[in-house]
Amino acid sequence: MTQPQESWLLGVVLLLATATTTHQANPSCHPVKEGMLNVHLVCHTHDDVGWLKTVDQYFYGAHNSIQRAGVQYILDSVVDALLKNPDRKFIYVESAFFFRWWNEQTPERKDVVKSLVRSGQLEFIGGGWCMNDEATAHYNAIIDQMTLGLVKLNETFGEAARPTVAWQIDPFGHSREQASIFAQMGFDGLFFGRLDHDDKNHRWDTHTMEMMWQGSQNLGDAAWLFTGVLPRGYSPPVGFCFDILCSDEPIMDDPRLHDYNVDKKVESFLKIAKAQSDGYATSHIIMTMGMDFQYQNANTWFVNLDKLIRYVNKRQSSGSQVNVLYSTPSCYLSALHDANQTWTSKTDDFFPYASGNHSYWTGYFTSRPTLKGYVRQTNGILQAVKQVASLLGMGHSEGLETLKEAMGVLQHHDAVSGTEKQHVADDYSERLAIGTKAALGVMGQALSKLQPVEALQKEKDGGTIHFCPLLNISSCPITESSSAFIMTVYNPIARPISHYVRLPVPSDTAYKVTDYKGNAVKAQLVPIPKPVLSIPGRHSTAAYELVFQATDIPPLGFLRYHIKRTSSYRILRQQISKTHSHVLGGDDPIELSGDENLAISVDPKTGLLKRVGAVRPGPIQMIPVSQNFLVYPGMAGNNTKEQYRASGAYIFRPNATEAREIAKKVNVVTVEGPLVYEVHQEWGPWVSQVIRSYMGHLNLEMEWLVGPIPIRDKIGLEVVSRVDWSSITTGNTFYTDSNGREMLKRVKDYRPTWRLHNLEPVAGNYYPVNSRLILDNGPDFRAAILTDRSQGGTSLNPGQMELMVHRRLFYDDAFGVGEPLNETQFGEGLVARGKHYLLHSSFASPECDFGCLHRTLGEELLLPPLYAFEETSALAHTWTNTAVNKWGGLGMNLPSNVHLLTLEPWGDNLLLLRLEHMYEKGESDTHSSPVTVSLKGLLADWAITGVEEMILSANLRKKDEHRLKWKVKTTSTAQASPSEQHRTNNIVHHQDPLSVTLGPMEIRTFVLTVKKASSRF
Ligand SMILES: [Zn+2]
Repeated sequence: MTQPQESWLLGVVLLLATATTTHQANPSCHPVKEGMLNVHLVCHTHDDVGWLKTVDQYFYGAHNSIQRAGVQYILDSVVDALLKNPDRKFIYVESAFFFRWWNEQTPERKDVVKSLVRSGQLEFIGGGWCMNDEATAHYNAIIDQMTLGLVKLNETFGEAARPTVAWQIDPFGHSREQASIFAQMGFDGLFFGRLDHDDKNHRWDTHTMEMMWQGSQNLGDAAWLFTGVLPRGYSPPVGFCFDILCSDEPIMDDPRLHDYNVDKKVESFLKIAKAQSDGYATSHIIMTMGMDFQYQNANTWFVNLDKLIRYVNKRQSSGSQVNVLYSTPSCYLSALHDANQTWTSKTDDFFPYASGNHSYWTGYFTSRPTLKGYVRQTNGILQAVKQVASLLGMGHSEGLETLKEAMGVLQHHDAVSGTEKQHVADDYSERLAIGTKAALGVMGQALSKLQPVEALQKEKDGGTIHFCPLLNISSCPITESSSAFIMTVYNPIARPISHYVRLPVPSDTAYKVTDYKGNAVKAQLVPIPKPVLSIPGRHSTAAYELVFQATDIPPLGFLRYHIKRTSSYRILRQQISKTHSHVLGGDDPIELSGDENLAISVDPKTGLLKRVGAVRPGPIQMIPVSQNFLVYPGMAGNNTKEQYRASGAYIFRPNATEAREIAKKVNVVTVEGPLVYEVHQEWGPWVSQVIRSYMGHLNLEMEWLVGPIPIRDKIGLEVVSRVDWSSITTGNTFYTDSNGREMLKRVKDYRPTWRLHNLEPVAGNYYPVNSRLILDNGPDFRAAILTDRSQGGTSLNPGQMELMVHRRLFYDDAFGVGEPLNETQFGEGLVARGKHYLLHSSFASPECDFGCLHRTLGEELLLPPLYAFEETSALAHTWTNTAVNKWGGLGMNLPSNVHLLTLEPWGDNLLLLRLEHMYEKGESDTHSSPVTVSLKGLLADWAITGVEEMILSANLRKKDEHRLKWKVKTTSTAQASPSEQHRTNNIVHHQDPLSVTLGPMEIRTFVLTVKKASSRF
C-alpha cells in the first residue's frame, strides 16, 4: 500500500502559547491536592431528547414500561439534593429539557436554581438544545441548535453561566467540524465517550486519551479544541452506580451492622482509580457518575458519593495518595490546564466508530433516509423564513420559534441519526411538520405584507397563500387543480440565481407562464415516471411536471409568475416533451445533449449511463462513467458474540464483501424538450431513477426512487448507488465533507493515527457524507457527487464512488433501540426519493473551476428556492401592473465566495448576521482568496447603525472571548500558527466596523442594530 506512513510519529514540539495569566481559575471548583492522584467525580445524567420514547414522554416520565425515565423528576430531585450539601455538584446538558422544566417552576424555585448556578453547584455543560449527532447533522443546523440553547441560557442566567466545556458523551463517532464549531463558540474543551476500540486502546497505551484537536485545515488555532476521551464511555466505574436504576451495593458504614462494606468499597475504588490513571497523562482523572436518565432520585447517588469521598480521603491520613472530589468537566479541565502539560495533537476525525471488530457504526449514516431528507429540507425553509422575518422587521414570532425548537430537537444523536424507535421517528416528523407549518405562516404574512391591498384583492379568490410540502412525490393540490395561480419563487442565497421550477400538473394540459414584465416564459411538460405515480400513499392527479426557468431571482428576494391553463393545442404541442421507449440489446447509441448543458450517452445494451461531457463550442470531451444500483444483503445475527452481530439501525454489516446487481439491464425511456432532457431508468418494481440535464446547467442530476425494499429473505437489504470511472485505475484516496463544510481525506483500509485491522472491508471504509464525496486524481480528473441529505459513502476501488441511499433490516443490532430498522408506510416498505448530482473537473470553465462548481452547487442544494402559491382570477396583464412581482431584500449581491449563513430576528431593531467564506485554502484558483464585504448597504430597507461582532454562538462578544491556551506538540504537517487571515480581520475590523474580511472557511457573526430606511412595506 502506498499510504502515508505514520507521520504523527515525526511530531515536533512547538510551544504555541504558554500564557496562562488570562485564565482565572473557577473559584467554585473544590481545591485539588498537589502530589496526589485527584479523582474528579462528575455527577451527570444523560437525557436523550427522544430515543426509545418521544421527547415529551421522556420529560414527563410517561410510558415507563419502555424505559423508566422522567426528566422533570431528575431536575426536581437534583435541586433538592444540591441544597442539602454545598459541596455537591451537578452538570446539566440538554437545554431542550431544561427550559421545559424551568418554565414550570415558581419564581421562588427559580431564585433557588439561580443561586445554585451562581455558586457553581449546578453547571451547564454543552448547553445546546440537544447533544447533536455529529455524522448526519449539517453544520448549519448544528450552529443553530447550539445557538438556540446557549443564548437562552445567557438570557436566563447571565454570561457567567455560559458553558465552556462541550460534552458529546454519546454520539457515535466525532467530526472534526464539530470540534471547530465548538472552538469558534468559545468552548475551552470537549469530552466524549465513543471512539474506535483499537484507537482507544492505542491512546490508552500511549497516554494520549487527552489531546489538542486541530479542528480546521483553514482556520488555524481559532479552531483548536482541547479534547478528552472519557475512560468508560460515560458510565460510572463498576460497582459504583448508586442510582435507583442500578443494583450496586450502597456504602454501608455502620461497623456494628452485618453488611459493613466501607473497607471493601474503598479498596475497590482505589484500585479502579489507579488503573484508570494508567491511561492518562496527568495526576488528574475524571469519573462520570451517572448514566441515561439517572438521578430521578438524586439522593441515592449523593448520599453514597458523600460517603465515598469521606472514606476514600480519610485514607490519606494513613498514606493514601488518592484525593477524590466533587467536580465538573470545567473544573477538571482547569486542573488539566494548570498541570502545564504539553499535549499531542490530532488533525483527522473520529469516524468511523467501531465498538468491536464487526460492529462498525456506519449504518446510521443512512438509516431513515426520508427523515434525514426531511430534516435537510426543513433547514432550508427555516433559513428562508428567518431571512424574510428579518428583512420585513417582523421580530420574534411564535411560528419561527416553533420551527427553531423542532429543528433543535431533530439534531439529537438519536433523531436525525435514524437510531430511534419507529414511534419516536414518527413523532419527530410530526414536530417538523408542525414547525414548518407555523414558520410558513410567518412567510405567508411576510409575502402578503409586501403586496398593495388592491393587488391582494384582485389576485386572490381564496385569499390564502399555499405551500406544497409534497413536491417530493410530485404532488401539489393547487397547481394540479387551479386554472390560474400566482407562483412566488424566493431565493435564500445572497446572489441572483437562475432556477428550474417543476410543478405537478394534470396530463394534456398546457400552461401560459408570464413573468413580472408581462413576457411569456418558455415552458416544457415532462411526464412523471410511472414508479413515481405509483408511490404508495400518493393521491395526486398530476401525471406531468411543468418546467420553466425562473431567471435572475434577486438575492434574498423573489420573482412571481402568473401561470394559467390554456386550451391551445398549439401551445400544448410546443410544451410537451418528446418521449421514446428504447428496446435494449441493439447497437443504436442512446445519446442526448442540448445547449450549454451536458451530453450523455447511455449503454444501448444495459441501459446504464455510459459517458458524459460538457457541451461547449468545439468537440465534446466525453468521459466514460457508469452508474448502477446494487444491494448488500444484510447480516442476520443474534448479537450474542461480536461475530454474530447483525446489521441494524446503528451498524452496517453486509453479509458479503461484494454488492449484488439488482438487474442485468434497466428499462430506458428518454424524454427531450427545449429546457431539459431526461433518461428514465427502471431496474424493476422498486428501484428507478431519472437522469437529467437542464439547459445552461453543468451538472448531471440523478433522482433516485428506492423502495419498498423487498423482504423475501426476511433479513434485509442495503441499497447503494455506485458510480465508476473505468479509466481511473489507481488511487485509494477519496474525500468526504465534514458536516457539509471542510473536506477530509480518506484512504481505504487506513487510519492516520493508529493501525487498522479491518475485518469488515466494506463497512469499515464507510464515512459520513453530509453534502459531497470527491475523487481527486490530479488536475485532469476530479469528480464530485453531491447529495441532498446525509448518507454513508465510500470508494472501495480506484475510480469508484458509492453512496448508500436506503436500507431495510429485519434484525436489531443490540445497541439499545430494540427494534429492527424495518420502516413501513401505507402498509408497505418505505419508499425514499432523493437526488445525487454529478460534477467533473472537465465541466469547469475559466470563471468557475472545479472547486467553484461544487461549492456553488452545494450552496444551492443547501438553500433551494422556496415556492408559494396563490389562486388568482386576475388576468396576466392586470397582474403585472398591480402587484409587486419582483422584490429583493438585499441592497447588493454578496461576492461569489461569501455565503450568507444566518440572517435572523434578534430582538427590537436587532438582527443576527453570519457571513461565511465558503471555500477552503487552495480549493479554487479564483475563489479561495480572502474577501472583504462592506455591510454598508447590505440590507435594502434597513440602515445599519451598530455592529457588534460575536463569537459563533452569539452568546458572547468577540472582544470578551478568552479561551484557555495550551502547550501543544503538533505534527510536522499541521498548521502551527493562527491563520494570518484571522489576524488581518481583526485589524480591518478595528478600522471600519462595517468592513468585514473573511479568510477561507471563516465564519463571522454579528449583531446588527438597524433602523428602517425605506417605505416599501
Ligand atoms: Zn444518547
